[in-house]
Amino acid sequence: VDTNSKRLTIAIQKSGRLSKESIKLLEACGVKFTLHESRLLAHSNNQPIDLLRVRDDDIPGLVMDGVVDLGLVGENVLEEVRLERVATELPAEVTRLRSLEFGQCRLSLAVPKEDAYQGVQDLAGKRIATTYPYLLQDYLKKQGVNASTAILTGSVEVAPRVGLADAICDLVSTGATLEANGLVEKDVIFTSQAQLIQRPEPLNADKQAMVDQLLPRLDGVQKARE
Ligand code: ATP
Ligand code: ZN
Repeated sequence: VDTNSKRLTIAIQKSGRLSKESIKLLEACGVKFTLHESRLLAHSNNQPIDLLRVRDDDIPGLVMDGVVDLGLVGENVLEEVRLERVATELPAEVTRLRSLEFGQCRLSLAVPKEDAYQGVQDLAGKRIATTYPYLLQDYLKKQGVNASTAILTGSVEVAPRVGLADAICDLVSTGATLEANGLVEKDVIFTSQAQLIQRPEPLNADKQAMVDQLLPRLDGVQKARE
């Protein structure tokens, strides 16, 4: 990506829980697109803006590395990638522009319902399955609890039943998935909603002007939705 380019590049989730709302929000801000399902890159029809459609996990790093100008991503993924990058000494700074009013969820510890769980201390010496090892270990450290992790990118909720872990740390919205797997939510360790983030290095004048135009529109859209 050419940083002197006059086109503003925005990374959004290609397909998943944030995709529809991300597009809807940008369109409500007056940025129009014709999306082709298979394409990674989409040019706006009416503004010098390009959309890069990727997995949500890739969005924070693309913004932190300055590969794209803006990104829309969940705080959970943003903080997980930030902690991982701090630990591995990669660039980990972003400018947070706005909290967006979608993508609400929480990252919680859950245990089998037959467990006599009294608190996070009970997980000392146990193994916890999660997709968010850095957020989990950060929380455990603050609580002074030593526990190991089983890192799974999917099917986290089945881990206790098949003997891979004693507990899980997973995203919860309604709790139905936990219930179906005989688990009970215990401690909420992180709450999240979508965020609009910007790369840390200053934007060139053309791009900054576009962001300056976009933000008041976004505030107007969010206010109107309240
Ligand atoms: P990808 O293929 O892009 O990696 P994914 O499977 O990791 O997708 P999704 O399940 O689409 O991710 O969730 C994307 C983000 O949406 C989550 O990281 C979180 O910020 C948010 N999210 C999670 N659960 C919900 C929910 N029930 N309602 C709204 N937003 C949610
Ligand atoms: Zn993901």
